Amino acid sequence: MIPNFSYTRAKSVDEAIRYLSLDGARAHAGGTDLLGCLRDHVLDATTVVSIAGLKELKGIGPTPAGGLRIGSLTTIAEIASHPIIRSKYRALSMAAAEVASPQLRNQGTIGGNLCQKPRCWYYRGEFHCLRKGGDQCYAVEGENLYHCIFGGENCFIVHPSDTASALAALQASVVIAGPNGQQTVAVENFHVPPSEDYTRETVLEPAEIVTEIILPAPADGLQSSYRKVRARRAWDFALAGAALAIVFSGDQAVDCRVALSGAAPVPWRATEAEEVVKGSRLDPDRAAKAAEAAVKNAEPMEQNKYKIPLFRGLIEQQLTAIAQAGSR
Ligand SMILES: Cc1cc2nc3c(=O)[nH]c(=O)nc-3n(C[C@H](O)[C@H](O)[C@H](O)COP(=O)(O)OP(=O)(O)OC[C@H]3O[C@@H](n4cnc5c(N)ncnc54)[C@H](O)[C@@H]3O)c2cc1C
Ligand code: SF4
Repeated sequence: MIPNFSYTRAKSVDEAIRYLSLDGARAHAGGTDLLGCLRDHVLDATTVVSIAGLKELKGIGPTPAGGLRIGSLTTIAEIASHPIIRSKYRALSMAAAEVASPQLRNQGTIGGNLCQKPRCWYYRGEFHCLRKGGDQCYAVEGENLYHCIFGGENCFIVHPSDTASALAALQASVVIAGPNGQQTVAVENFHVPPSEDYTRETVLEPAEIVTEIILPAPADGLQSSYRKVRARRAWDFALAGAALAIVFSGDQAVDCRVALSGAAPVPWRATEAEEVVKGSRLDPDRAAKAAEAAVKNAEPMEQNKYKIPLFRGLIEQQLTAIAQAGSR
């Protein structure tokens, strides 16, 4: 049962920040994750502050620098179908189209997708694990089929968002508003690894909210893509996902970013793979070497060793496909 809380609809960002400064207050955007967390007692809240009516946090439009501004309340469905995102930031539209189910994409927002809570079954269940303030990680000795193969320390979740990896590959930034004003943080630095602090997922301080996401102007020759492997064709989180953003000049890959989902507690840059690709003619042999490099430093747990060949195959296949698109 959902516990009792008071519910307030903020009429402006400033008002939302004021309400969120109250002890035990939580932001509510589409509610697809928050309400489940409250119902399952993963979190508690004394006040739920709806930001859903804030028009200034909605919509997609150009930035003066030639990029794109996406309001944090923009739904995942709008992002998946937006014509500019589909043509210029393809990895993001592909990732958004892979999120959950049509109903959830229509209700869930991009801000909520970046700030959603982990899906570890111990965390979502009745286990008072390290991340919930307890003294142990149950996944270490327990069921760790879906846990991380990179970046695990103390806690071994995988970051659940598909869009976060695509945004990291595309070098997007997050604009944050809070009691101390506004700041911009690269998506890549927005999520907090457990080695730094295993009790939080993002850099957001109390009463701070994400107001918008900024995509830089796409470089000439940019090709990007996202692919996800999941256990079922129905809605499911990524067992393995990879976002690629490669800048081609002729048949040379002059720049490359690879960001993985389902791999680590935060969207994970596969920098070893990027180095193999950068400055090369991305042929099938190079794609295979890059995919091998991507998984070279993986540290699987007892039950998730299958993720290594899965990521290797996924990355190789995707690099080969993007090279064909880039050289056309
Ligand atoms: C069954 C199911 C399947 C799913 N499958 C996938 C999947 O395959 N891939 C994937 O990426 N996601 C998946 N999700 C997650 C889903 O995409 C998110 O629930 C959704 O995007 C969250 O958006 P929301 O607006 O509903 O957030 P809410 O539920 O309103 O909020 C989620 C969290 O973010 C905080 N928050 C919301 N907006 C802001 C903001 N602007 N600033 C600061 N904090 C904020 C809230 O306080 C809360 O803690 C799934 C969810 C469900 C329930
Ligand atoms: S992986 Fe993290 S969230 Fe899951 S049980 Fe361990 S500490 Fe908790």
